[in-house]
Amino acid sequence: MMIRFVFVIFLMISCSAYRISTSGTIDSQASGSVEVTYLGSAGYLISYKNKSILTAPFFSNPPLEKVLFGNISVDTSAIDRYFPQNSNPDALLIGHAHYDHLLDIPYISRKYIPNAKIYGSVTTQNILTPVLGQSKIIAINKYAASQENKGAWLIINSDQQKGAIRFMAIESGHAPHVGLPGFNFSLFKGKITEPLMALPEKAEGWKEGQTFSFLIDFIADDGEIDFRIFYQDAASPPPLGLPSSALLKDGRQIDVAILCVPGYQQVEDYPEAFIKALNPKNIILGHWENFFAPYTQNPDSLQPVPFLNPSDFIDRLEKVLPQDANWYLPAPGTKFLF
Ligand SMILES: [Zn+2]
Repeated sequence: MMIRFVFVIFLMISCSAYRISTSGTIDSQASGSVEVTYLGSAGYLISYKNKSILTAPFFSNPPLEKVLFGNISVDTSAIDRYFPQNSNPDALLIGHAHYDHLLDIPYISRKYIPNAKIYGSVTTQNILTPVLGQSKIIAINKYAASQENKGAWLIINSDQQKGAIRFMAIESGHAPHVGLPGFNFSLFKGKITEPLMALPEKAEGWKEGQTFSFLIDFIADDGEIDFRIFYQDAASPPPLGLPSSALLKDGRQIDVAILCVPGYQQVEDYPEAFIKALNPKNIILGHWENFFAPYTQNPDSLQPVPFLNPSDFIDRLEKVLPQDANWYLPAPGTKFLF
């Protein structure tokens, strides 16, 4: 299907070699319209007709020294200011359990989205259980696809087979945080196998657990796939995190691939292998801004994650970019209409 590029505003940041999207509208001839709002880090609000899903929102952004050496805490005023308060999502998807994906969830879940079920790993469930209760969080490990396992689709609004959102979790990986020749170092690895008694106070308590990527389908009333999104919240060594060829054999192209920028230097063939295999029409590059600095949606104040070079990532991406595909490096708060 041809995508008609209608209207996109790009803000050129004068001191940067890369362009940051601040809002965009794309008309994709899809029968329904899909709105994707980048909230920062791994957080996206994705709306389709009267349904929506949310992925790991994060606004608290504790400074690096507290992440490494101190206690971390929730910045409720940042959440109250920036969380899209009338979003009312049907579900919340969590790719892995590090603090920058989970720390804000208890406050947001209880205050703003009490009806949304949370889908994440067993580790995610065990970390959040003391504040949200076990039944609020659905552990998805046993439903996940891998190169060997077929996996199972989960339908979010299960009273309705049609006009629904479904997703498949895919076993994925997480790039090391530090990569030096002959030495890779990952922070906060490991799993939590029993429910905690209280939320961790230190970042190291928010263990990674199993990491997942997601294939998300928006299904029209006639049962056809109207829109397909691939979502990934950590750079992963392929084929970990990639949908198997069996999963993609329905031939439905991916409309939007959401990729994670940091960590790409620490894994081989990322993002190249993902872009070649996914062949997406659009690519949104996330988690790129410095989440150790206070949260902002002001493009003039945005800096990349320390030691991250978005220009180099984009150079590599452009070498394998499918013809007619678009990529976007959004500022938090940027809204796309597809
Ligand atoms: Zn992580």
